[in-house]
Amino acid sequence: MSGRYHVPAVLSRPDVAGEGAIGVLALQGAFIEHVAALTEIGVATREVRLPEHIAGLSGLIIPGGESTVIGKLMVKYELDSAIRSFVADGGAIWGTCAGMILLANDVGRDQPLLNLLDIDVERNAYGSQLASFEEDVALPDLGIADLRAVFIRAPVVARVGPNVRIEARDGRGNVVAVSCGNILATAFHPELTADRRLHASFAKHAGQAAAAVS
Ligand code: GLN
Repeated sequence: MSGRYHVPAVLSRPDVAGEGAIGVLALQGAFIEHVAALTEIGVATREVRLPEHIAGLSGLIIPGGESTVIGKLMVKYELDSAIRSFVADGGAIWGTCAGMILLANDVGRDQPLLNLLDIDVERNAYGSQLASFEEDVALPDLGIADLRAVFIRAPVVARVGPNVRIEARDGRGNVVAVSCGNILATAFHPELTADRRLHASFAKHAGQAAAAVS
């Protein structure tokens, strides 16, 4: 492909995990923390930097970071269309914070989005970096209570489409986690705490989704 940088094999390591691994989009942001979280619970992972790194994955995590930067790099490396095809083929996807923004249909401004989830998102809804905070949230449909949620310049979901399920709200009533089929989005950063329940839940769901497709 023209116009893209050479990515050294030592950085891309697409072979470290075989079929059914969970990929972590590794363009910018908190991807190392997701890789570490999955590794901790024994889930095979692969850092995804190019479209060919997606082959054979059961799930993909889009980390927090800067959604404009991640979005632009996604387009540059043709990962946007590859990720859409992955999800259309039954792959599971989970966006955290900036990842949630990238999954959305509308964020009120012009930036590259995946448009995979029928939600509108308000970026930086709680204010600046200084307004970052932590609180416990519950995701009852996933069987998870008292999950410490870290919000860092986090978005909130301002509109939820008819097929989208609300998974969690913050203490003020804002929607901070949603799902639709194989797509999960959380406004907070579960990879920054020691609680691995959400990673385990996503890995299990992704494995079941992959088994159902194959
Ligand atoms: N505020 C960032 C954005 O709009 C997201 C912050 C995060 O991912 N922690 O992209």
